Amino acid sequence: MQIQFAKRMSNIKASEIRELLKVTEKEDVISFAGGLPAPELFPIEEINEINQIVLREFGAKALQYTTTEGYKPLREWIANRMNIQLGTSFDEDNILITHGSQQALDLSGKVFLDEGDVVLCESPTYLAAISAFKAYGCNFIEIPTDQDGMIMSALENVLEKTNNIKLIYVVPTFQNPTGKTWSMERRKQLAELSSKYNIIVIEDNPYGELRFEGKPLPSINSFDTKGYTLCTGSFSKIFCPGFRIGWIAGDKSIIQKYVLVKQGTDLQCNTIAQMIIAEYLKQYDIDKHIERIVEVYKRRKDIAIECIELYFPENIKFTNPEGGLFTWVELPENISAREILDKCLERKIAFVPGDSFFPNRKMENTLRINYSNMPEDKIRIGLKTIGEVINQYVKS
Ligand code: PMP
Repeated sequence: MQIQFAKRMSNIKASEIRELLKVTEKEDVISFAGGLPAPELFPIEEINEINQIVLREFGAKALQYTTTEGYKPLREWIANRMNIQLGTSFDEDNILITHGSQQALDLSGKVFLDEGDVVLCESPTYLAAISAFKAYGCNFIEIPTDQDGMIMSALENVLEKTNNIKLIYVVPTFQNPTGKTWSMERRKQLAELSSKYNIIVIEDNPYGELRFEGKPLPSINSFDTKGYTLCTGSFSKIFCPGFRIGWIAGDKSIIQKYVLVKQGTDLQCNTIAQMIIAEYLKQYDIDKHIERIVEVYKRRKDIAIECIELYFPENIKFTNPEGGLFTWVELPENISAREILDKCLERKIAFVPGDSFFPNRKMENTLRINYSNMPEDKIRIGLKTIGEVINQYVKS
């Protein structure tokens, strides 16, 4: 076969996590690999009941095409929730419903990126954001981070010196993959720098509601006086990911551009899924549901940290996240997390080697541990095994 694929296909590789997930779907594997929520917390009974109500009350409307922007009551709920929790000032016309927040990232590429444009991101950053943006032919510059988030002097240095910067992509709360959270000060500073240099910020926030401890922090958008910050959000971690309902929020004139490109992509999101979520939010107490999720994940996180402290060698670094789904481990520099993974897979344990999360630089001594998807006993067994394997490498 001689097939002429588009040039962009040479930039697109199979996601390592997706490939790994094929292995980890097997029942007997203990997986810390995917970012999967705990399935036992999905509100199955409630969804079943609400589904019937929606079909009874809305009938064919729930199965018909609808507007690209999305179901109005759902957009109203999202705007109101963001204003209360994140300090934004949105109404429903600031919100576009997307197929998961992942689609919001892809549409951002479509709206903003030409070939050769530059995206700035944290180092490391969310793997599937790298894939989404890369398809539009961009280059990445990684900005170093510390415990408070992106280092602003390093960011300003790059902003001053580099042409063609189109986007700054950040996950400031319980970041994937590191679990880190930006301080208030850094959020303010990023809003100031994006206004000063006229650069769009994509503030990706799928985990913000899953806080175990510490004070909630306002969104970068809440410090933005010019409208350069776009926020993405998602029902995947607070409801269920299978509905594929997320959103992007921002200045109305920019959201209108997203609406235009979404029309060419898929016309709209699933009508009945949007209605079911909106009706669920009306009939049930989502805060109570989130409290239950947070309780389970906090416990799992505590066990994961306890096991890392107990079974991993002493000379490693790791994050103890205040929320979200992940912790990040840095091994001594000469150790390859890929080799450790191979040995662990032989013992039916999986995690993601950290180098996948760097668009340019590779830190082979890092790994990401997801703690939300496994029951407590398996977290203990799995991390003990990973610890044993790492110890063999540290000693040999
Ligand atoms: N952003 C980040 C940082 C993520 O970790 C994920 C996946 N969990 C997404 C976006 C996409 O999530 P979804 O499409 O399910 O909303």
